[in-house]
Amino acid sequence: MLLHLQTWPDVERYLAGNDSIIIPIGSTEQHGPNGLIGTDALCAEAVARAVGDRVGSLVAPTIPVGMAQHHLAFAGSMSLRPSTLIAVVKDGVFSLARHGFRRFYFVNGHGGNIATVQAAFSEIYAEASLVKTGNQPALQCRLRNWWQADGIASLSRELYGNAEGSHATPSEVSLTWHLHPEAARPMRLEPEIAPTGDFSDAADYRRRFPDGRIGSNPGLASVEAGKRLMEVAVAGLVEDYRRWIAA
Ligand SMILES: [Zn+2]
Repeated sequence: MLLHLQTWPDVERYLAGNDSIIIPIGSTEQHGPNGLIGTDALCAEAVARAVGDRVGSLVAPTIPVGMAQHHLAFAGSMSLRPSTLIAVVKDGVFSLARHGFRRFYFVNGHGGNIATVQAAFSEIYAEASLVKTGNQPALQCRLRNWWQADGIASLSRELYGNAEGSHATPSEVSLTWHLHPEAARPMRLEPEIAPTGDFSDAADYRRRFPDGRIGSNPGLASVEAGKRLMEVAVAGLVEDYRRWIAA
């Protein structure tokens, strides 16, 4: 059930029996030589929508651009400042809270969003505690990364071992190819496994990781692996969502 395909009376009826909503959040940034710019938004959106179908929850429109400053030395990458992303998350949550939504389950596709989205949750809680008075039910926000759903780490290890890496991973690239098989570009990369390490800003990132990958070999990605990863991610987050709602 997608929020943007409902009417307002539909949403009012939904709110009579359910106060939760799922919000996909991704990023629009380089994903190595054969991964799509939209990888993180595509993965978060597909997983979130499938979870929403399984648990009967509304799913909000995807937040497609995240905190990706460190990817800006590669063509096509877009970023919000942390302060902008905090404002986007806060305004989205408070818009929905006005109608009666109380529980916000974010499905995230990008590691670079985590610190900023958690800071946005702290801002939301601070505003509720410091500014609002009365006994309105508290807002609850939760952030889950699809690649940390139960079962994904072991499946990625089984599929790719030490070629999984941390950016432009064969797992996330596989998931996008499952969603868009026409985009699949398996290839031999040199070096096969990209370097690992720290970085500071965008220029430093490109110097250390010239083709955009970190520690990974997305040349091994496949449509078939993407299908398995999708099923496991959805099952893991369905369980997590149900436990959270029940608690
Ligand atoms: Zn990614």
